[in-house]
Amino acid sequence: MEKWHHCAVLPKDVYNLKQKLKGSSTDASDCDVLLRQIVDDGGFVEYAKDDKNNFMYVVFQTKQMIDVLQKFPEVLILDFTYKTNKYLLPLLTVMAVDGEGHGLPVLHAFVKKEDTEFIAKCLTALSSKYDTGLTCSFMVDKDFAEMSALELMFPDVPINICHFHINQAVSRFLRKELASDAYPKVLETFMAQVYTESTEEYNSLKDDITNSVPQKVADYFQRNWWDKSKFWATSENRSVLKLKATTTNHLESFHAKIKKYLNVHISLASAIENLTMFDNGQITTSLRSAVIRANSVCYRSSTMQDDTVNTVLNTLTRFAADLVIQQLTLSRTVNYAITVANSEYIVSYKEKQHSATPTVCECSFHKQMKLPCRHILFIRQQLGLPVFDASLVHGRFCQDLASTHQSQNFSSALSTVFVPSANTKTAEGRYRKATALFSDMASYLSVLSEQEFLEKVTFLECLFSTWHEPTATTSTDTSQPTAATSTDTSQPTATTSTDTSQLTATTSTDNAQPTATTATDASQLTATT
Ligand SMILES: [Zn+2]
Repeated sequence: MEKWHHCAVLPKDVYNLKQKLKGSSTDASDCDVLLRQIVDDGGFVEYAKDDKNNFMYVVFQTKQMIDVLQKFPEVLILDFTYKTNKYLLPLLTVMAVDGEGHGLPVLHAFVKKEDTEFIAKCLTALSSKYDTGLTCSFMVDKDFAEMSALELMFPDVPINICHFHINQAVSRFLRKELASDAYPKVLETFMAQVYTESTEEYNSLKDDITNSVPQKVADYFQRNWWDKSKFWATSENRSVLKLKATTTNHLESFHAKIKKYLNVHISLASAIENLTMFDNGQITTSLRSAVIRANSVCYRSSTMQDDTVNTVLNTLTRFAADLVIQQLTLSRTVNYAITVANSEYIVSYKEKQHSATPTVCECSFHKQMKLPCRHILFIRQQLGLPVFDASLVHGRFCQDLASTHQSQNFSSALSTVFVPSANTKTAEGRYRKATALFSDMASYLSVLSEQEFLEKVTFLECLFSTWHEPTATTSTDTSQPTAATSTDTSQPTATTSTDTSQLTATTSTDNAQPTATTATDASQLTATT
């Protein structure tokens, strides 16, 4: 509860706000106009006062936020941030994880104070706007009020605590209680407990800690962590859909960005206005990138020979395609054995076994991502089924969803056709061709109106940024080997596979900058099979 001191609203502030929000000030009437506009545009607003007319909270969602929530309701991240308005009202943001693995805001609330009752009210507002049965997990930092409100409002949905905050909280405690040469080892052992998928290993690490620390520290672990292991132990929540969000980083970085526009000097109306403008910008940019990616695929796929890889790239978002192609590569390179048991198949490699069917698997990749894993893909290869098709994948990862999800009409403007030509064989030839193209473009752009020029240049910058985006493997989940990322076939690509013809598992369109392939070393393969 250490956050309380940040958010304490002085009686004077509440009084001021009460006065203002009664309609006596510019701020109140400005808020009123803005909130009405959000509702008129198809959004949602709820504003609450207590029976003494004191401000309690204001929750709002723009139409775009509601759309995102309805499309991507599976994993939601919650957190508060502070110092965003002159009344020091804490700001709650709920964020969804989209098909590209990016976080997008789906609800904001300014609340009088950060407690379970207010958060529960905000969650009631949230749950009125979508099918709550679709939410598979929540991600929070270790905030008691948030967790209590979630358990109250969504009793059946698992809550995961951010791994980064776990590390911080435990580290802070241990540093106080243990000698400086002793605490890193205990912290490391505890974090191993967080990450292990094996219950036996979890128990043995728990014994290690118990046997190596004073009783007071053991009691701390018992009370704060081991009694609540379902919130953080991977061995207990390995089957929970997480979409690679194991921290609240998406939301923390969002909150850091909005601080450019929100601070303790601005009115509530300015805070709401700046926030909705920033949100809409974020959502629009994300949708635009999704559309551009969906339309860039025909260029990408035309440079490849592999039908399955092409289907994956043409069906899925880039985030999902990268992950599935990694799994496909593993399914083709690992020496799996397969046996039939009842209606299921047992796919095994060394001592590791997974029971799976051509459509579902018990492994954590499949459970946490809702994407076909190496075991499913292997079974399909063995049975002679089409190795990949769209029915294997949750709709949130399909490009159709990303494309239909946006309202602007530039999507058809960008389909690219690849025509091989003699003068693109060398880097020099490609440079000349590109320069000629960009020179034509510059002439064209320079005579447009300023508005049109800015629109088109922004569009191009956005397109360019999609070529330079890191692949989906920047996650903290280092247990997953990384697939090759370069499409530049003129550059030798180092992979550990003996069958390099199978390894056209490539995702980048950036021919100018071939990316060195990350070696899938044998020990990693063993670890993930
Ligand atoms: Zn599997």
